[in-house]
Amino acid sequence: MANSQLLREACARSIRYLEELRERRVFPDASARDALRALDTPLPERPSDPHEALKLLDEMGSPATVATAGSRYFGYVVGGSLDACVAANWLTTAWDQNASMVSLSPAACAIEKVAARWLLDVLGLPKDAHCSFQTGTTTAHMTALVAARNAVLRRVGWDVRADGLSGAPSIHIVVGGEAHPSLMRALGVVGFGARQVTSVRVDDQGRMLPEAISEFGEHPTIVCAQVGNVNTGASDPIAAIRDAAPGAWLHVDGAFGLWANASPRRRHFTKGIEHADSWATDGHKWLNVPYDSGIAIVREGAAVKHALSMSAAYLTDERSDPKDYTLELSRRARGIDVWMALRTLGRQGIADLVDRCCDLAKRFAERLGALGYSVLNDVVLNQVLVTFGSAEQTHRVIEALQSDGVCWCGGTVWQGQVAMRISVSSWATTVADVDRCVDTMARIARPD
Ligand SMILES: *Cc1c(COP(=O)(O)O)cnc(C)c1O
Repeated sequence: MANSQLLREACARSIRYLEELRERRVFPDASARDALRALDTPLPERPSDPHEALKLLDEMGSPATVATAGSRYFGYVVGGSLDACVAANWLTTAWDQNASMVSLSPAACAIEKVAARWLLDVLGLPKDAHCSFQTGTTTAHMTALVAARNAVLRRVGWDVRADGLSGAPSIHIVVGGEAHPSLMRALGVVGFGARQVTSVRVDDQGRMLPEAISEFGEHPTIVCAQVGNVNTGASDPIAAIRDAAPGAWLHVDGAFGLWANASPRRRHFTKGIEHADSWATDGHKWLNVPYDSGIAIVREGAAVKHALSMSAAYLTDERSDPKDYTLELSRRARGIDVWMALRTLGRQGIADLVDRCCDLAKRFAERLGALGYSVLNDVVLNQVLVTFGSAEQTHRVIEALQSDGVCWCGGTVWQGQVAMRISVSSWATTVADVDRCVDTMARIARPD
């Protein structure tokens, strides 16, 4: 029998946490962080009351969490969780389905299949591309790049599954000078060292200069472009890159920027995106589903199956189970959270979420600019880079802001300049939140 009382209590505690999220400190203070030590006990020898353990977890853990799911967290690129997706996540946790194959979970596989179809539709990608649900963009990169690597080598007569990589023809790997570190890591895992990667020059917003992509002749080539630079929000000119390297496998890092394509008002930033061969994106950032949620999308699904299928008969086996398209065998049905976001927001709601975040980022930039602070980037998406004077002064403001507790923004270095980065990625953020944060930044930055 299920322990209903315990599960109800967990539910009640979760709801209380979410209700208090809007007004609590965004980053936990030192006493909440120090209190975590109470959890650092020797391994219990005997079973104990789970109510006690849950109470301890809530009383010690909750106050020390970072309110990334709240409305005033603007660090990195994070995004909150829609209540609908938290609810779906609770239910699917209770289901405890293994989403690896239809014979283990018809429900999980069917719902993820719908989520995949809707994703391609809302993102404006080819209808027959293949989506697989991953833990994040990093693993989505790995999935897509393994498929890309094996496919481009197959075209020159090399079979990686049979003959491995040593002795294989070399592959040209081309990335933008502003590629995200997760892409470089994924390339490394897939077998490409830093010295084998050609880095293309970028402009002042971090966009690849397509004329800097040289001719690669007959060599197998993988070009990795990006939509949504983590600092500026800018996107590489995908259509021009496609033209500059017509024979290459074009992979796109669209961790958050791919969602620009879901908004008719922003779609021009990602022009030509549908002509790529693979795309990696997150659900846990801009789609606002709970962790962890990444999506690998590959135009030729067969290329993924060819590379990752668990079955030795991968060339002839007609069946199609999720396990043959992901790095995992057993896995939670994380695509159901994506289904819930798309089911409840719809095409219009997704576009509104993207547009609202972009409009709020603009408001940050305009208000901070009006106060005399320098905004370093063209605020075309949801990212804002601002300086408060010298590098030392900007560092000081970031540090003071982070310990103040009203909001949280991180620091970065943009083309040699120290800046504070504001990323608006949550459904929960309002105009009032932005104004309150700008006032806080102004109070902290003001020389006294
Ligand atoms: C966050 C991010 C990634 C990595 O995504 P994870 O889901 O954290 O693995 C890759 N590229 C860009 C541009 C990002 O913003």
